[in-house]
Amino acid sequence: MKREIPKAARFLLIYLADSSSNYDAKKVHLDNLYRMVAYCENAIDCRRAQQLQYFGESFNSQLCKQNARAVCDNCSSKVRSELLAEIERVQLVPGIICATNSSALSAAV
Ligand SMILES: [Zn+2]
Repeated sequence: MKREIPKAARFLLIYLADSSSNYDAKKVHLDNLYRMVAYCENAIDCRRAQQLQYFGESFNSQLCKQNARAVCDNCSSKVRSELLAEIERVQLVPGIICATNSSALSAAV
């Protein structure tokens, strides 16, 4: 099976193979490629926070979560997982109440 190389990566490989560019230029481009791959593969940190960090700024990721219409994919998945955890927690409450009521009934009888 032949593995396809994305077009952008192909251009970068051609550029890196170019003997006319110097070592420092190649290193900068390769570092940028690794940074971009890390950004794409990061499924945890807020996208806005990552982008602004690149430009030397800080961003509170809580602000990203507050706007449901513009939340980034990573914060959205965190919000979703927090919501699911809350639903699971709430679903446990009726079981606890039933168990408590059963114990109270058993003690009363
Ligand atoms: Zn975010």
